[in-house]
Amino acid sequence: QEQAKILSEYFGLNTSSEAKEVTIKPIGNGHINTTLLLQGTKSPVVVQKLNTYVFPELNELVNNARLIERHLENKKNSNNYKLDIIKHVATTEQKYLVDINGDNWRALEFIGGSYSEDVVINKQQAKIAANAFGQFAAALEDFDAKKLFPVIPDFHHLAKRIEALKSAVNLDKHDRLSSAQDQVDFCLGQEGLVEELELLKTKLPLRACHNDTKINNMLFCSKKHNAKAVIDLDTCMSGYWLFDFGDMVRTFCSPEEEDSTNLDNVVIREDIFEAIVEGYVTPLKNLITHVEKQSFWVGAKVMCLMIGVRFLTDYLDGDNYFCIKRAGHNLDRAKNQFALYQDLLKKEGKLKALLD
Ligand code: ATP
Ligand code: MG
Ligand code: MG
Repeated sequence: QEQAKILSEYFGLNTSSEAKEVTIKPIGNGHINTTLLLQGTKSPVVVQKLNTYVFPELNELVNNARLIERHLENKKNSNNYKLDIIKHVATTEQKYLVDINGDNWRALEFIGGSYSEDVVINKQQAKIAANAFGQFAAALEDFDAKKLFPVIPDFHHLAKRIEALKSAVNLDKHDRLSSAQDQVDFCLGQEGLVEELELLKTKLPLRACHNDTKINNMLFCSKKHNAKAVIDLDTCMSGYWLFDFGDMVRTFCSPEEEDSTNLDNVVIREDIFEAIVEGYVTPLKNLITHVEKQSFWVGAKVMCLMIGVRFLTDYLDGDNYFCIKRAGHNLDRAKNQFALYQDLLKKEGKLKALLD
């Protein structure tokens, strides 16, 4: 309650004359920041305590998001963007970040009449979500991607992620290599993908990317169940659309959670893959290059493999980055991602045909 009062004062949520109690409660299932809904006399706002371990450059992060926010607002004013936009709320001193006892907070307008989903249930949902991320990408087509600060440098740099794995293998700080040797060997056998990706990059336009295209990073409308907004712009950086496509494949297509050990069930649902293609490509159809569309197949492979590599590296390193709830959690996650990657390879013919 004390925290609610302090935050509402910073963000000018209560007008002095009609001040009533402010309330605060957690919302959503984000993994990175602490996200709360603050309600007072004025419109409710979402307040977020930002994660400075993951994002040391918070001013740049907020600046990136505000640049995109303004770009989308202009598009919306000229009827070229239909979705709602998450706008930052300024403090009474016209700032967008406040330090309260060493924690860094920001506020966003709350998008009411909406809900988020954590797991893709069916192909309709996948198509709606992919279409929203496609609309977002299309609206940023004329945004200069170079204006975005790399808040996490080399976020999707497969070669560097594999190098990091090799260092973790060489150090084997926690004597865990013997329990993960098969997975390590598997990864190192996939290095050909690095070259495939590097070659592609030379032929692709640099884009402003979302870089975290999970289903719970868009909001559905509570009434019509259509797309309401793309949210969570923390990792928006320059990159290639193949990464956003690939991350949807990685996070939408498996019927199992990413830490499930029920590996027999970790498969690519082909109908979901098809829905992602349809949903994402439709808003981009007049903008996407031929090579870019072909690159989506590589994107799917890269994202599944790369996140697996990161889980495996973190396991060998002693679980510093991804929060674990049980011993071997990161190794389980790595095995899960490699199972998904292998199923992707198994279905290459059919899935590539869907992209064509
Ligand atoms: P991630 O783990 O995806 O990085 P995060 O910690 O960065 O998540 P957000 O995705 O920004 O956090 O927010 C977490 C959840 O809070 C969202 O999935 C959504 O349910 C809810 N949420 C966030 N912002 C808003 C908003 N402006 N209006 C309504 N709900 C919101
Ligand atoms: Mg999120
Ligand atoms: Mg996030």
